Order: sequence, then C-alpha cells, then structure tokens
Amino acid sequence: MFASGIGYDVHRLVEGRPLILGGVKIEHPLGLEGHSDADVLCHAIADAILGAAGEPDIGFYFPNTDESIRGIDSVEILRRVREIVVGKGSELLNVDSTLISEAPKIAPHIAAMKERIAAALELPVTRVGIKATTNETMGFLGRREGIAAMAVATLNRA
Ligand code: MG
Repeated sequence: MFASGIGYDVHRLVEGRPLILGGVKIEHPLGLEGHSDADVLCHAIADAILGAAGEPDIGFYFPNTDESIRGIDSVEILRRVREIVVGKGSELLNVDSTLISEAPKIAPHIAAMKERIAAALELPVTRVGIKATTNETMGFLGRREGIAAMAVATLNRA
C-alpha cells in the first residue's frame, strides 16, 4: 500500500554555530542550536519518512542524550532513516518539504540541498521537493528567533 507521513521541526538561531540547512552550509551570522548539526530540514524529512513507515520519531532513533551522535551530520541521519524503512521492506517514493525562514534567503541554496538529500535517500533529484517561505515577519519565526521546516514523505509500504 501507499502511505504518507508528515514531519515538523524547529530550531533556535544562536550565535557561534554554523548554519546547516538541507546538508548545505550557508553563510549567516547565526546558526541553529541543537545536539546534532541542527539541520531542521533534514530532521523534518526524517520524521516524515519514519511516520509514513509507522516507525517511532527521530527523537527515538537519535535521542539528544546519545553522545555518539553529538554534532552528527543530519544527512547521515537521513541515510540511516532510509535504511530503517527500506530494511523493513518499504520503498521510498518521494519527499516534499518547506523551510520557513525570515533570513537568510534560501532560494540560492535549494539546488545544492536537493542534491545532497536525494543522494542520501537514493532518490532522483526530481523526487525531492524543497520550497522556502518567510513568516511575513510575524511571530517567533518572523522575529528571526529560529527556522522551521515541514515535510511529507510517501512510501510504497510493506
Ligand atoms: Mg531537530
């Protein structure tokens, strides 16, 4: 059967951290805070894939109490999530996602993000959707306190 899952994540923008989105390092005065590299886009996509497979969420598989994954490249999390669901007999068909970021501008980086994520998920680039929008200056995202991402994934499920 076909099954879809959704994912959502948000991380706080802080000083002294690199900004990594979709596996791409972006020049910006602030970066995202987190136990891993805090790549909010990869985390939302990982949760969407796990959700479609009926698996527990990213916090179950990659808990922030696990010192072995401190600072982990979240593209590696995507690789492992793909292995989890493929290992259980599912085929990943596509992912789609939206970043919500007041700054920096995301559009110039989307092609590079798609390539990294598609490679990790072993999907053609045309099956990886990434869009970006602002929060129209409203709320915590609009005040540039953080960056959020949402994602959906579809599996041909065992
Ligand atoms: Mg996260």
